[in-house]
Amino acid sequence: MNHASEAASATERPPVRRVVIAGGGTAGWMAAAALSRTLGKVLDITLIESEEIGTVGVGEATIPTLVTFHRLLDINEQEVMAATNATMKLGIAFDGWRDVGEDYIHSFGTTGKDHWTAGFQHFWLKGRERGLARDYGEYCLELRAAQENRFAHLPNGGINYAFHLDSGLYARFLRRFSEGYGVRRVEGRIGEVALAANGDIAAVVMADGSRIEGDLFIDCTGFRALLIGQTLGVGFEDWSQWLFNDTAIAVQTESLRPAVPYVRCSARDAGWQWRIPLQHRVGNGIVFSSRHTDEASARATLLGSIEGAQRTEPRVIRFRPGQRVKAWERNCVSLGLASGFLEPLESTSIHLIQRGITRLLQSFPHVINQVDIDEYNAQVQSEIVHIRDFVILHYAVSNRRDTPYWRDCAAMELPPSLRHRIDLFAETGRVFRIPNELFAENSWVQVMLGQGLTPRQRHPAPDLMGDDELNHFLEGIRRHVESTVSRLPTHMDYIRSYCPMKDAAAAAAV
Ligand code: FAD
Repeated sequence: MNHASEAASATERPPVRRVVIAGGGTAGWMAAAALSRTLGKVLDITLIESEEIGTVGVGEATIPTLVTFHRLLDINEQEVMAATNATMKLGIAFDGWRDVGEDYIHSFGTTGKDHWTAGFQHFWLKGRERGLARDYGEYCLELRAAQENRFAHLPNGGINYAFHLDSGLYARFLRRFSEGYGVRRVEGRIGEVALAANGDIAAVVMADGSRIEGDLFIDCTGFRALLIGQTLGVGFEDWSQWLFNDTAIAVQTESLRPAVPYVRCSARDAGWQWRIPLQHRVGNGIVFSSRHTDEASARATLLGSIEGAQRTEPRVIRFRPGQRVKAWERNCVSLGLASGFLEPLESTSIHLIQRGITRLLQSFPHVINQVDIDEYNAQVQSEIVHIRDFVILHYAVSNRRDTPYWRDCAAMELPPSLRHRIDLFAETGRVFRIPNELFAENSWVQVMLGQGLTPRQRHPAPDLMGDDELNHFLEGIRRHVESTVSRLPTHMDYIRSYCPMKDAAAAAAV
């Protein structure tokens, strides 16, 4: 359809009053919560979910933007954390990524102090040359707090954090919240999707024959992508040439020790394994490339390295890395797994749901029109490629060559945008952040250094400092970090007083 006829069909569209959310996983209920809390008084919102189909049942590590999402919606943090048996997350510990037996942490927050001409890494590199600098991580509060297993909120947002949470309980919490703001929930299976004469979606038709009509549909049906993919035929851009992993096996175990405030992410022969500690249990899983290993070997690797009794049977989840060519088509916006999936390495999926929701709310149409759709899709596209590049970085820069998987990672041809960033850092120590990009300079530096990339040159600004001055500068930062960390309570002491889980017996039954 050309733009002229799109415009004509847009004029036939009614004002958006009835919003239908198809799917009640994390994406569906986050969308319902945000829409009902902000525009609930002027919209009629229905969410359809099927207990028989269920949700993907994973997705438990988040990043700090979720703190903001809760604030925007006036969700009390202590309440949501207690209701989801949540713990704090300060970063991700990457074991065996740079090389077998070597590790590093990618944490939230910042490291050291930048000068306007040159980032802190240049001062640290000079410190290394002069034998004055300790490990890069020793200049970062969040990283040291993670290593010491400590946490507390600090004044003026002095510590950056996110959560590990139980995804099923989170959806349940958001359901109660959304129903309180008037969302109508329909239980049952969507049998088919009915189109209007102009090609828009007119209604979803339930398996029992009932019809739910809407003006705007939000596809949160997970990997099925029932509306945007199966019905509207929007294609999928496959990124498996860079992201080889396509299968996960997830299993929950009992906690054997106090929860730490970070995800452990251990590289394996043909993928990696996660460990996410909640208050009442641990989420584990392995993510792997089916081109490089088989399910039985991956399962054996996973089950051979979990601790604590199994609470669930291992569950296999297959996925295709990539994104929907258009996140918004006609009167249908896709969120969550329906709109694409990178892989869970840097916990970016829930963040992308949240970005989709806030973007939709900021461009919420009176009557749906093509310019809004085009702008939305352009923003989604420009944001996700940088996140994709950041995830690929972990595979592209590594000294591992011990298995065919890691050798294939080392040999892959990178997207030019990532190639440029790697070359720039390798040559000059410089990184940059594109406006609105999720991962800031600190993340790029921590991961590039952590994966084993050492810049050949650095900025000359630190040469203005003599050894004493540089030492004083570096030590001042390090001592401040250490004294702050030493005053923090242990992570679980803090959790037990801030947001203890409400009902351990109920939690155990989940
Ligand atoms: P789903 O949870 O699959 O929900 C789909 C919904 O649609 C369900 O309610 C289902 O019942 C409904 N539905 C489907 N078809 C029909 C139908 N015909 N009729 C009625 N209802 C229907 N993200 C992170 O941010 N951090 C992580 O640590 C993380 N880890 C992950 C690990 C793995 C292995 C995977 C695969 C994903 C991970 N993710 C993670 C992604 C995260 O799980 C998802 O982004 C998040 O759970 C949202 O899923 P969803 O709501 O889009 O889909």
